[in-house]
Amino acid sequence: MVLLPILLEAAVVIALAGVVALAGRFLDFKGVTAAVFVGYVIYVLGGRIHFLLLLVFFVVAGFTTRYRYREKYGEFGRGVRTWTNVLSNGSAAALLAAAGYFLDNPSSSFVMFVGAISSVFADTMSTEIGLLSKKPPRMITTLKTASPGTPGAVSLLGLLAGLLTGLIVAFSVFLYDVFFGTSWGVYATAAVCVFSGFTGSLFDSVVGGLFQSRYRCSVCGRAVEVKKHCGKETEYVSGNRYVNNDLVNLLASFYGAFAAYSLWAYLY
Ligand SMILES: [Zn+2]
Repeated sequence: MVLLPILLEAAVVIALAGVVALAGRFLDFKGVTAAVFVGYVIYVLGGRIHFLLLLVFFVVAGFTTRYRYREKYGEFGRGVRTWTNVLSNGSAAALLAAAGYFLDNPSSSFVMFVGAISSVFADTMSTEIGLLSKKPPRMITTLKTASPGTPGAVSLLGLLAGLLTGLIVAFSVFLYDVFFGTSWGVYATAAVCVFSGFTGSLFDSVVGGLFQSRYRCSVCGRAVEVKKHCGKETEYVSGNRYVNNDLVNLLASFYGAFAAYSLWAYLY
């Protein structure tokens, strides 16, 4: 049974986080609404450590997206994310937190939850940091050089960022364990974070490179993943029109859960 104190605690913490997200313009209003819903499910049905990992992802990825935004994406936009981005990155995690609660299997669900978060977190970080690479990226599928921003294009800097992101998740679990104590094996969790994070960002690049629709902005000439840029409709270049970045993110989060559980099962 869910106890009243955790419902109230979650409401207070998430209300605060929501105000910060709106004030800092990390999310637009619809984005905040979606994030509050996802956050509440994860807090109440998962627990504090689940919510902490979500928050670390949200804050670190938020600031990294903002960092040198104009340089990465052109003159327009300010790195404000919306509800589709929240759901594509967070719904697998929310589903896993709920599954752990209702199926009464917190260990397995936590491992899968960690994998889902690590995967989308690492992908976000490798995208945002990889765009700052001075060398042109190469397609993970063909190794040919590509314009920065092309789905499936990877750089050494981006890959490194993906690898380090798993360590950020692992370190968060470790800190929580030091202060509050958990029953999770910390070293195995660290291995799971790094493995699911790094291979999750690779999965996202391979699937994105093979299937995702590509667009080009007719105003600034950038390769983009969106249908609108610089205030104008972008030109369709190639790929499946129904496969966008959100769908690829969602698939990567499920992949991350699977990868995490596989490694966990192998280690134990
Ligand atoms: Zn543009």
